[in-house]
Amino acid sequence: MATVFKTGRAPVRDDEFLIEDITRDASGHPAFDRHETVVRVSDKSSGLEAIIALHDTTLGPAMGGTRVWPYENADAALTDVLRLSRAMTLKAAMAGVQTGGGKAVIIADPATDKSEALLRAYGRAVESLGGRFITGEDVGLTVADADAIATETSHVMGTSGRAGDPAPATAYGVYLGIRAAARRRLKREDLAGLRIAVQGLGNVGRSLVELLSADRAVLSVADIDEAAVERTVQAHGVKAVTPDRIYDCDADIFAPCAMGGVINDDTLVRLSCAIVAGSANNQLLEPRHGLDLHDRGILYAPDYVINGGGLIALSLEMTDDGYSWERAREKVDGIGATLEALFEAAVAENLPPERIADRMAFERIAAASRSGQSHAVSVGGDAA
Ligand code: NAD
Repeated sequence: MATVFKTGRAPVRDDEFLIEDITRDASGHPAFDRHETVVRVSDKSSGLEAIIALHDTTLGPAMGGTRVWPYENADAALTDVLRLSRAMTLKAAMAGVQTGGGKAVIIADPATDKSEALLRAYGRAVESLGGRFITGEDVGLTVADADAIATETSHVMGTSGRAGDPAPATAYGVYLGIRAAARRRLKREDLAGLRIAVQGLGNVGRSLVELLSADRAVLSVADIDEAAVERTVQAHGVKAVTPDRIYDCDADIFAPCAMGGVINDDTLVRLSCAIVAGSANNQLLEPRHGLDLHDRGILYAPDYVINGGGLIALSLEMTDDGYSWERAREKVDGIGATLEALFEAAVAENLPPERIADRMAFERIAAASRSGQSHAVSVGGDAA
């Protein structure tokens, strides 16, 4: 049985189950950015290997999904969790929710390695953090998995019977963001006839395709999962392209909804679109790639702003009124206005939108810190 983990103390250990504070070791990593706590979790009997990173809890408990992915090695997993948890801090600040930033990765193949025992062992690890970390779904983790984790901890959102899968709320926010970007960059009030290339047809990508199809956008789609592509082609009559050709599509908008790092030296030169706007976290491989987009006249909707809908929906579970789709939708509506304000400021200052977003997010966190308003576990004002 895990006991409460305390930063800086001896690792929690029994014969099988180990949680150790690796913050000091992680602090030398290039992706480390003043993270508060990083822990490694392992459980021999279930095969669990995970890393949980709490980036910043100024605005509230660190909230972020758990990604299940077969990372090539421990360093790739650490890089991902450090970057993703930092992005969650910025996302929460821009979404106007009072949660901090955190994330977890389980090093496993979601298709073959997940078991009840593994998920429950992971739930014990989350519980051992005593509420400083609240988790939910991400790539490779389903609502049923969240339910299994919830048998060991109450610090998990998005379980069945509550908010459930956050992806529809995320997709709705991305849809609003695409519309805001099209208004700004293409002077278009609707999406009819606009050519949009969607990369990734998972939980978010699928919902997004539905919304874009209903608006009569002309879609090209790609996924490494051929069955997912086939289903989407059948349902919406969209055009399928192979995963490696999605960057070469003749498209007005590129919507990355799969993995991070897809805007990089190799792909930038292939994009002919006017807008990059999608759900994937950490789309820019490095900050300089955002500058490259800006220099090429491609409008980028900062990922952690446009994809905040799921976080907004899940954080409603912590309010007195609880979650409802209507309340979530009303709050997610703010994402369009937030992006419009960012685009406006970016033009005025001739800076990439993500630079403005970073500044605004850190200013909000600094203001909360100055006013001593930290760790309030409730949803704040509308996304502004
Ligand atoms: P998912 O696991 O349901 O779907 C991801 C899809 O991407 C899968 O179908 C997978 O086969 C596909 N994929 C992986 N690599 C690919 C590649 N190289 N080319 C094409 N397709 C590829 O995940 P999701 O929940 O839909 O999330 C998608 C992205 O949005 C992730 O980056 C996630 O972190 C981010 N995001 C999701 C949410 C949410 O609410 N689910 C919220 C915010 C951000």
